[in-house]
Amino acid sequence: MHYAPAADRYNNMTYQRCGKSGIQLPAISLGLWHNFGSIDNFENGRSIIRHAFDKGITHFDLANNYGPVPGSAEENFGRILKKDFSGHLRDELIISSKAGYTMWPGPYGDFGSRKYLISSLDQSLQRMQLEYVDIFYSHRPDPNTPIEETMGALHSVVQQGKALYVGLSNYNAEQTKAALAVLQSLGTPCLIHQPKYSMFERWVEGGLLDVLEANGVGCIPFSPLAQGLLTDRYLHGIPAGSRASKPSGFLQENDITPEKIEKVKKLHALAQQRGQSLAQMALAWILKDKRITTVLIGASSVAQLDDNLDTLKNTSFSKEELDTIETILK
Ligand code: NDP
Repeated sequence: MHYAPAADRYNNMTYQRCGKSGIQLPAISLGLWHNFGSIDNFENGRSIIRHAFDKGITHFDLANNYGPVPGSAEENFGRILKKDFSGHLRDELIISSKAGYTMWPGPYGDFGSRKYLISSLDQSLQRMQLEYVDIFYSHRPDPNTPIEETMGALHSVVQQGKALYVGLSNYNAEQTKAALAVLQSLGTPCLIHQPKYSMFERWVEGGLLDVLEANGVGCIPFSPLAQGLLTDRYLHGIPAGSRASKPSGFLQENDITPEKIEKVKKLHALAQQRGQSLAQMALAWILKDKRITTVLIGASSVAQLDDNLDTLKNTSFSKEELDTIETILK
């Protein structure tokens, strides 16, 4: 069926400036790591993307290896763009991709060489049927490739018009500082950093967020719901169809420990007191920090997406609530 985007799509979303750049991103962005691969239902993924855009989500995050099978999320996203977002709608979207994890066999399909990054982006563009991505990331640091080579490759793809901006993902504070210095010297500043960050995963608070702020770089935390743990999904066991129930999912049954569920139950009770779902409270908790540009969620249904979008109705916390959260997480 023909898709016409909602006319009021920009009315209810908050847009926040990404570091010291010209780009504003929606407070909530959507990632295609799970739920959009060749093993998933194409029409379900398509309806999630359309609904996201109708609600003001302009940023869609991909990587070469998203699927499964690797590459298939980009392929499916390309098909959705072709069917539903043709013409000038591309100009309303911020699309990102990445390279850094294993993508093809042999020594040139992994990590951070110039050879890998540039050929991988070419493949991503082909799969998505795009001329350029808005953001291209080095997906992880490479201990064996000089940082000048990896950052030089990011600089080159911008020069070639294959990416408009560049980003870093999974670089620690020190690695980030070194990368930012090289990018700065090349004249291609880093737009954004994509780290793992949630109530259960706090490493960015130990220096990275300060480095980003000091350098005018935005921050887009991934897995802010700890892959679904910080929602009501696992309050009563592992439901069929959930990420933890699937062999292809990165969340495994043994990640859902009784200790974690104990904390999740307490957080859930606090969220209820705030008149929110736990998912909403977990996202609001990340967005309360002004150094965060946008939270990068996943969703397996339109209903989950709607639940998460309602986060924006209440993103403030009292001191007591924040203290209670720290006590629960201890
Ligand atoms: P989340 O922590 O948001 O987890 C998403 C999952 O949580 C959903 O698939 C769903 O699981 C469940 N969920 C979401 N909303 C709700 C809700 N309201 N109620 C109940 N359950 C809910 O993020 P992801 O781990 O999916 O990561 C998000 C994105 O971050 C990725 O798509 C990717 O773009 C990026 N990413 C980047 C990485 C990197 O190295 N740079 C690594 C990992 C992710 P279910 O399927 O069970 O319904």
